Amino acid sequence: MSTASQHPHIRRIGVMGGTFDPIHYGHLVAAEEAYFSLGLAEVLFVPTGTPPHKDRGQVSAAEDRYTMTLLATVDNPHFKISRLEIDREGTSHTVDTLREMRHWYAPGSVVFYFITGLDAVLDILNWKEPEEIAAFSKIVAVSRPGYNPHRLEDLPSTIRRSVIPLEIPLLAISSTEIRRRVNLGRSIRYLAPWPVEHYIYKKALYHRKDGW
Ligand code: NAP
Repeated sequence: MSTASQHPHIRRIGVMGGTFDPIHYGHLVAAEEAYFSLGLAEVLFVPTGTPPHKDRGQVSAAEDRYTMTLLATVDNPHFKISRLEIDREGTSHTVDTLREMRHWYAPGSVVFYFITGLDAVLDILNWKEPEEIAAFSKIVAVSRPGYNPHRLEDLPSTIRRSVIPLEIPLLAISSTEIRRRVNLGRSIRYLAPWPVEHYIYKKALYHRKDGW
């Protein structure tokens, strides 16, 4: 198979998939690091619509997660955002997203780098058509410090050979921790861009009686 490194005219497109509930500086640093270290032409943020693996009631409205992602990425010229999964009916499957995106570019002109969390990648065998995902794209597995990327060795070689581990120190920030802090009335200043922080307050997100 030909690769972007063998053919410098082939563009490398980052596809940053996540629930982004909310998006935070860890995600943004990961995307920026992938952009520079992998020589990407751009990074396309794709907030999930209805995640296949999560209880719908646990996840904030897709429009809120989309708006926060837009607010967080608007000042970076090589970050773009797609409504593809948000506007699609039914559950969001990564393989369908990549399949559709392939039609946006001339055949053979791009290589996709699907960027997401290491934990999500370790669960990839439970996703729809994981071998196809590995055939359509490189899979960038972003980890927090202390996470063990050796667990990737357990994946079948057909998938493992497409996986690129990427450790990001700032990813110690987590969406779960931000939601928990908001629920407790604690500060989230400097964990997410300030427009995201103010959007959370304005829409009164992350207030649950049973906590996070
Ligand atoms: P998740 O379970 O919410 O996240 C798993 C871990 O990865 C969390 O620690 C999370 O941190 C981190 N993470 C998530 N997205 C990240 C990103 N882009 N960069 C760095 N770290 C990231 O997983 P998810 O967000 O729902 O799903 C991740 C992606 O996998 C999405 O694009 C989703 O559509 C895809 N997925 C597809 C299928 C399928 O096709 N069947 C199934 C599952 C997931 P934070 O909590 O701080 O974000």
